Amino acid sequence: MQIRAALVPEKGAAFKLEALELADPAPDELIVRVAASGVCQTDLHARDDYFGMPFPCVFGHEGAGVVESVGNRVAGLAPGDRVVMVSPACGACEACRLELPGYCSSARGIKFGGRLRDGRAPFRYADARRGDAPVYGAFFQQSSFATHSLATQANVVKLPDDLPLEVAAAFACGVNTGAGAVLNVLRPHPGSSLAVFGAGAVGLAAVMAARIAGCTRILAVDLHDNRLALARELGATQAFNAAAEDPVAGIRRATGGAGVECSLEAAGQPQALRQAVDCLAPLGVCCLVGSARKGVEAALEMAQLQQGRSLRGCIQGDAPPGEFLPKLFQHHRAGRLPVERLISFYDLQDINRAVADAASGKAVKAVLRIARA
Ligand code: ZN
Repeated sequence: MQIRAALVPEKGAAFKLEALELADPAPDELIVRVAASGVCQTDLHARDDYFGMPFPCVFGHEGAGVVESVGNRVAGLAPGDRVVMVSPACGACEACRLELPGYCSSARGIKFGGRLRDGRAPFRYADARRGDAPVYGAFFQQSSFATHSLATQANVVKLPDDLPLEVAAAFACGVNTGAGAVLNVLRPHPGSSLAVFGAGAVGLAAVMAARIAGCTRILAVDLHDNRLALARELGATQAFNAAAEDPVAGIRRATGGAGVECSLEAAGQPQALRQAVDCLAPLGVCCLVGSARKGVEAALEMAQLQQGRSLRGCIQGDAPPGEFLPKLFQHHRAGRLPVERLISFYDLQDINRAVADAASGKAVKAVLRIARA
């Protein structure tokens, strides 16, 4: 079928709207008419060739929309269902069997291979004069910067009727990751303290989740005052601009010298990781979710870790999205996870402006409106 998509013609280039022909779905695939898609740092990493994907390529991995058609081996989903597309996994490896699909041993090929699972390119140009030249995608098995996505049964989650699709898109990756790191990995005790480094969508979701968990001291660190102001509105009890002051000293002061029980690195910066470990109390735990380019290293003081402190990473919130997202939707309905507050909306044709605003920090969470559904 013919669709429209924002593709990246070559490494690092601007997004360009094109008419494309979408491949026919395999029996276990479905077509989703995309209503909205979040823009995430990972899309920009892909554009800049961090993952070695072939070009031209269509990215986007936070799509929400309505099921248009399903293959004959798809069960439990029907045309008209409202869904959000999530990170795919193989469903068969050890991590998938342990219900930790974020660590799927086949994830890299499934998310970043550029092709459908049977090896086909998902698109070609609709303009016949361009022949059969392949256009790649299947990014996270969705490539949601498009009017339609080819997804698999395993990477869609049904939505409650009252959750707007353009809000649901923000849950797919960023909110899932930040809230999951707090609620599934760090699991702070009620009354404890938690520091968040990086007040983007992931970090702010973590701030809201810390409040849900009952943390009474929530400290946010960022380089942008507008994001820190939003962090305070969403539950941070104190905020530190790391460009203006040493956040470790500030956090120690705020905790009577003790440090925090939990911290989250959501900035993807070596300096922030160092600070997120240095601000911990003895036996404290730091969780790393910030995405850094392959090969980036960080320095830590060995004596700090020896004080019973620990550091671990986390992908996609450490939970199967089919089980965890419905819990987050309930928190949203109850007003505890006002994800709308993070979102700036853009039309699909303004994707390059959305990307620039996301990169500069002007937009906390850019969401593209693709079609009214
Ligand atoms: Zn797997």
